[in-house]
Amino acid sequence: MSIELTELVKPVLTDEAFLADVKASSQQPDEFHLWWLGQSGFLLQWNGRHLLFDPYLSDSLTKKYAATDKPHVRMTEIVIDPAKLDFIDVATSTHSHTDHLDHETLLPLMAANPNLKLVIPEANRAFVADRLKCDAAWLVGSDDGETVTLGDFEITGLAAAHEEIEFDEEGRSTHLGYVVRFGDFTIYHSGDNKGFDGMAEELLAAVGDRKIDVALLPINGRKPERRVPGNFWGHEAAKFAKDINAGLAIPMHFEMFQFNTETPDEFVATCEQLNQPFRVLKCGERFSSN
Ligand SMILES: [Zn+2]
Repeated sequence: MSIELTELVKPVLTDEAFLADVKASSQQPDEFHLWWLGQSGFLLQWNGRHLLFDPYLSDSLTKKYAATDKPHVRMTEIVIDPAKLDFIDVATSTHSHTDHLDHETLLPLMAANPNLKLVIPEANRAFVADRLKCDAAWLVGSDDGETVTLGDFEITGLAAAHEEIEFDEEGRSTHLGYVVRFGDFTIYHSGDNKGFDGMAEELLAAVGDRKIDVALLPINGRKPERRVPGNFWGHEAAKFAKDINAGLAIPMHFEMFQFNTETPDEFVATCEQLNQPFRVLKCGERFSSN
Protein backbone atom coordinates (compact mmCIF):
# COMPACT_ATOMS: atom_id res chain seq x y z
CA MET A 1 0.00 0.00 0.00
CA SER A 2 1.37 3.40 -0.84
CA ILE A 3 0.46 6.40 1.22
CA GLU A 4 -0.07 9.82 -0.26
CA LEU A 5 1.98 12.22 1.79
CA THR A 6 1.35 15.40 -0.07
CA GLU A 7 -1.08 16.81 2.51
CA LEU A 8 -0.05 17.55 6.07
CA VAL A 9 -1.76 15.51 8.76
CA LYS A 10 -4.10 17.80 10.68
CA PRO A 11 -3.82 17.54 14.47
CA VAL A 12 -7.09 16.91 16.32
CA LEU A 13 -6.65 20.23 18.10
CA THR A 14 -4.43 23.17 17.25
CA ASP A 15 -3.80 26.73 18.42
CA GLU A 16 -6.69 28.32 20.36
CA ALA A 17 -8.77 25.11 20.36
CA PHE A 18 -5.82 23.21 21.83
CA LEU A 19 -5.25 25.89 24.50
CA ALA A 20 -8.96 25.91 25.33
CA ASP A 21 -8.87 22.13 25.87
CA VAL A 22 -5.85 22.45 28.16
CA LYS A 23 -7.43 25.28 30.15
CA ALA A 24 -10.77 23.48 30.44
CA SER A 25 -9.23 20.31 31.85
CA SER A 26 -9.75 19.85 35.51
CA GLN A 27 -7.18 20.29 38.23
CA GLN A 28 -8.25 17.25 40.22
CA PRO A 29 -5.33 15.50 41.94
CA ASP A 30 -6.92 12.11 41.23
CA GLU A 31 -6.55 12.37 37.47
CA PHE A 32 -4.04 13.59 34.90
CA HIS A 33 -4.18 14.59 31.25
CA LEU A 34 -1.69 13.95 28.48
CA TRP A 35 -1.70 15.48 24.99
CA TRP A 36 0.49 14.19 22.15
CA LEU A 37 2.26 17.11 20.46
CA GLY A 38 3.89 15.04 17.70
CA GLN A 39 7.15 13.03 17.56
CA SER A 40 8.12 12.44 21.24
CA GLY A 41 6.44 15.58 22.55
CA PHE A 42 3.71 15.33 25.20
CA LEU A 43 2.10 17.85 27.49
CA LEU A 44 1.34 16.41 30.94
CA GLN A 45 -1.17 18.24 33.13
CA TRP A 46 -1.77 17.25 36.74
CA ASN A 47 -3.27 19.21 39.60
CA GLY A 48 -2.68 22.51 37.81
CA ARG A 49 0.97 21.67 37.03
CA HIS A 50 2.38 21.21 33.54
CA LEU A 51 5.34 19.22 32.23
CA LEU A 52 6.41 19.10 28.59
CA PHE A 53 8.26 16.01 27.38
CA ASP A 54 10.66 16.67 24.47
CA PRO A 55 8.66 19.33 22.61
CA TYR A 56 9.40 19.81 18.90
CA LEU A 57 7.08 22.62 17.80
CA SER A 58 8.93 24.26 14.92
CA ASP A 59 10.24 23.60 11.42
CA SER A 60 13.88 23.87 12.34
CA LEU A 61 14.85 20.42 11.02
CA THR A 62 12.92 20.88 7.79
CA LYS A 63 14.82 24.13 7.22
CA LYS A 64 18.18 22.70 8.31
CA TYR A 65 18.03 19.75 5.89
CA ALA A 66 16.06 21.40 3.06
CA ALA A 67 18.85 21.48 0.49
CA THR A 68 20.53 18.23 1.50
CA ASP A 69 20.19 14.55 0.60
CA LYS A 70 18.52 13.98 4.00
CA PRO A 71 15.36 16.10 3.72
CA HIS A 72 13.21 16.20 6.87
CA VAL A 73 9.80 16.81 5.33
CA ARG A 74 7.22 17.47 8.05
CA MET A 75 4.13 15.23 7.87
CA THR A 76 1.97 16.77 10.58
CA GLU A 77 1.07 20.39 11.25
CA ILE A 78 2.43 22.13 14.34
CA VAL A 79 -0.05 21.82 17.22
CA ILE A 80 0.76 25.04 19.00
CA ASP A 81 3.16 27.97 18.88
CA PRO A 82 5.50 27.33 21.87
CA ALA A 83 5.39 31.07 22.73
CA LYS A 84 1.73 30.53 23.69
CA LEU A 85 2.58 27.83 26.24
CA ASP A 86 3.06 30.27 29.12
CA PHE A 87 1.99 27.88 31.90
CA ILE A 88 4.78 25.29 31.78
CA ASP A 89 6.62 24.33 34.98
CA VAL A 90 9.06 21.71 33.66
CA ALA A 91 10.31 20.63 30.23
CA THR A 92 12.54 17.68 29.38
CA SER A 93 15.13 16.79 26.75
CA THR A 94 16.02 13.09 26.63
CA HIS A 95 19.02 13.69 24.33
CA SER A 96 20.49 16.34 22.09
CA HIS A 97 19.04 15.50 18.67
CA THR A 98 17.04 18.49 17.49
CA ASP A 99 13.67 16.72 17.55
CA HIS A 100 14.29 16.38 21.32
CA LEU A 101 16.26 19.58 21.97
CA ASP A 102 14.91 22.20 19.61
CA HIS A 103 16.15 25.74 20.13
CA GLU A 104 13.29 27.12 17.99
CA THR A 105 10.86 25.53 20.46
CA LEU A 106 12.77 25.99 23.71
CA LEU A 107 13.83 29.63 23.32
CA PRO A 108 10.25 30.96 23.00
CA LEU A 109 9.18 28.53 25.73
CA MET A 110 11.88 29.86 28.08
CA ALA A 111 10.85 33.43 27.28
CA ALA A 112 7.19 32.65 28.02
CA ASN A 113 8.01 30.85 31.28
CA PRO A 114 10.59 32.73 33.37
CA ASN A 115 10.45 30.04 36.08
CA LEU A 116 10.75 27.09 33.71
CA LYS A 117 13.03 24.17 34.66
CA LEU A 118 14.63 22.14 31.85
CA VAL A 119 15.69 18.58 32.68
CA ILE A 120 18.51 17.19 30.53
CA PRO A 121 21.12 14.44 30.72
CA GLU A 122 23.91 15.84 32.90
CA ALA A 123 26.34 14.64 30.23
CA ASN A 124 24.85 17.14 27.76
CA ARG A 125 24.99 20.25 29.98
CA ALA A 126 27.64 22.15 28.03
CA PHE A 127 26.11 21.21 24.67
CA VAL A 128 22.62 22.29 25.73
CA ALA A 129 23.88 25.58 27.23
CA ASP A 130 25.61 26.31 23.94
CA ARG A 131 22.59 25.45 21.78
CA LEU A 132 20.20 27.50 23.93
CA LYS A 133 22.72 30.24 24.77
CA CYS A 134 21.63 29.90 28.39
CA ASP A 135 23.40 29.77 31.73
CA ALA A 136 24.66 26.19 32.13
CA ALA A 137 23.94 26.38 35.86
CA TRP A 138 20.23 26.91 35.15
CA LEU A 139 19.85 23.47 33.55
CA VAL A 140 18.75 20.54 35.71
CA GLY A 141 20.99 17.53 35.06
CA SER A 142 19.95 13.91 35.45
CA ASP A 143 21.74 10.64 34.82
CA ASP A 144 20.99 6.92 34.78
CA GLY A 145 19.32 6.14 38.12
CA GLU A 146 19.43 9.74 39.34
CA THR A 147 16.31 11.48 40.64
CA VAL A 148 15.55 15.18 40.67
CA THR A 149 12.49 16.68 42.37
CA LEU A 150 10.95 19.78 40.78
CA GLY A 151 7.84 20.94 42.61
CA ASP A 152 5.34 18.10 42.43
CA PHE A 153 7.29 16.13 39.82
CA GLU A 154 9.89 13.54 40.82
CA ILE A 155 11.94 12.64 37.75
CA THR A 156 14.37 9.73 37.43
CA GLY A 157 16.69 9.30 34.45
CA LEU A 158 17.21 5.87 32.91
CA ALA A 159 19.78 5.00 30.24
CA ALA A 160 18.36 4.65 26.72
CA ALA A 161 19.86 2.80 23.74
CA HIS A 162 19.55 4.98 20.59
CA GLU A 163 20.67 2.61 19.05
CA GLU A 164 23.62 2.05 21.35
CA ILE A 165 24.02 3.11 24.96
CA GLU A 166 26.42 6.05 24.84
CA PHE A 167 28.38 7.72 27.59
CA ASP A 168 30.43 10.89 27.87
CA GLU A 169 34.07 10.65 28.95
CA GLU A 170 32.95 10.68 32.59
CA GLY A 171 30.70 7.67 32.09
CA ARG A 172 27.40 9.56 32.18
CA SER A 173 24.55 8.63 29.83
CA THR A 174 24.04 10.99 26.90
CA HIS A 175 20.62 9.48 26.10
CA LEU A 176 17.99 9.01 28.78
CA GLY A 177 14.39 8.07 29.31
CA TYR A 178 12.53 9.58 32.27
CA VAL A 179 10.29 8.12 34.93
CA VAL A 180 8.02 10.90 36.21
CA ARG A 181 6.10 10.46 39.47
CA PHE A 182 3.41 12.88 40.63
CA GLY A 183 0.70 12.23 43.19
CA ASP A 184 -0.13 8.54 42.95
CA PHE A 185 0.86 8.35 39.27
CA THR A 186 3.91 7.19 37.33
CA ILE A 187 4.67 7.83 33.66
CA TYR A 188 7.65 6.47 31.75
CA HIS A 189 8.90 8.30 28.64
CA SER A 190 11.60 6.12 27.08
CA GLY A 191 13.27 8.78 24.93
CA ASP A 192 14.69 7.47 21.67
CA ASN A 193 15.34 3.88 22.52
CA LYS A 194 15.49 0.41 21.03
CA GLY A 195 15.84 -1.28 24.42
CA PHE A 196 18.71 -3.38 25.78
CA ASP A 197 19.14 -6.50 27.88
CA GLY A 198 18.12 -5.71 31.44
CA MET A 199 16.29 -2.47 30.64
CA ALA A 200 12.90 -3.70 31.87
CA GLU A 201 14.46 -4.89 35.14
CA GLU A 202 16.29 -1.59 35.61
CA LEU A 203 13.08 0.35 35.00
CA LEU A 204 11.05 -1.83 37.36
CA ALA A 205 13.70 -1.41 40.06
CA ALA A 206 13.50 2.38 39.60
CA VAL A 207 9.73 2.49 40.03
CA GLY A 208 9.81 0.16 43.05
CA ASP A 209 6.37 -0.79 44.33
CA ARG A 210 4.56 1.63 42.02
CA LYS A 211 2.92 0.59 38.78
CA ILE A 212 3.77 2.38 35.54
CA ASP A 213 0.45 3.93 34.58
CA VAL A 214 1.51 5.00 31.10
CA ALA A 215 4.56 4.09 28.99
CA LEU A 216 5.38 6.39 26.06
CA LEU A 217 7.42 4.38 23.55
CA PRO A 218 8.82 5.04 20.04
CA ILE A 219 7.75 2.76 17.18
CA ASN A 220 9.68 4.01 14.15
CA GLY A 221 12.13 1.10 14.19
CA ARG A 222 15.54 0.91 12.53
CA LYS A 223 16.40 1.16 8.85
CA PRO A 224 20.04 1.68 7.79
CA GLU A 225 19.01 3.66 4.71
CA ARG A 226 17.60 6.41 6.93
CA ARG A 227 21.15 7.04 8.24
CA VAL A 228 19.88 8.01 11.68
CA PRO A 229 19.98 5.93 14.87
CA GLY A 230 16.87 3.81 15.32
CA ASN A 231 14.33 2.92 17.97
CA PHE A 232 11.91 0.16 18.93
CA TRP A 233 9.83 -1.37 16.19
CA GLY A 234 6.13 -1.39 17.01
CA HIS A 235 6.13 -5.06 18.06
CA GLU A 236 9.14 -4.47 20.33
CA ALA A 237 7.51 -1.47 22.00
CA ALA A 238 4.34 -3.50 22.64
CA LYS A 239 6.37 -6.40 24.08
CA PHE A 240 8.38 -4.03 26.29
CA ALA A 241 5.17 -2.42 27.61
CA LYS A 242 3.98 -5.92 28.53
CA ASP A 243 7.33 -6.75 30.18
CA ILE A 244 7.03 -3.72 32.46
CA ASN A 245 3.31 -4.32 33.11
CA ALA A 246 2.41 -0.84 31.88
CA GLY A 247 -1.17 0.15 32.62
CA LEU A 248 -1.30 1.72 29.16
CA ALA A 249 1.13 1.96 26.25
CA ILE A 250 1.06 4.97 23.94
CA PRO A 251 3.21 4.94 20.77
CA MET A 252 5.27 7.96 19.72
CA HIS A 253 7.96 9.05 17.24
CA PHE A 254 5.96 8.61 14.02
CA GLU A 255 4.17 10.85 11.51
CA MET A 256 6.63 13.72 12.00
CA PHE A 257 9.11 13.22 9.13
CA GLN A 258 8.42 11.40 5.88
CA PHE A 259 11.80 9.63 5.84
CA ASN A 260 11.54 8.29 9.40
CA THR A 261 8.06 7.03 10.19
CA GLU A 262 6.05 3.82 10.49
CA THR A 263 2.35 3.19 10.93
CA PRO A 264 1.24 2.08 14.42
CA ASP A 265 -0.39 -1.07 12.93
CA GLU A 266 2.29 -3.49 14.10
CA PHE A 267 2.27 -1.95 17.59
CA VAL A 268 -1.52 -2.27 17.75
CA ALA A 269 -1.53 -5.87 16.50
CA THR A 270 1.11 -6.96 19.02
CA CYS A 271 -0.59 -5.15 21.92
CA GLU A 272 -3.80 -6.99 21.01
CA GLN A 273 -1.99 -10.33 20.81
CA LEU A 274 -0.34 -9.79 24.20
CA ASN A 275 -3.39 -8.29 25.90
CA GLN A 276 -1.41 -5.12 26.53
CA PRO A 277 -3.70 -2.11 27.03
CA PHE A 278 -2.82 0.66 24.57
CA ARG A 279 -4.07 3.88 23.07
CA VAL A 280 -2.93 5.37 19.77
CA LEU A 281 -3.30 9.12 20.14
CA LYS A 282 -3.68 11.41 17.19
CA CYS A 283 -1.51 14.48 17.24
CA GLY A 284 -3.09 17.15 19.47
CA GLU A 285 -5.36 14.58 21.10
CA ARG A 286 -5.83 14.23 24.88
CA PHE A 287 -5.67 11.12 27.02
CA SER A 288 -7.31 11.51 30.44
CA SER A 289 -6.58 9.06 33.22
CA ASN A 290 -10.14 8.48 34.38
ZN1 LIG B 1 14.06 11.33 17.74
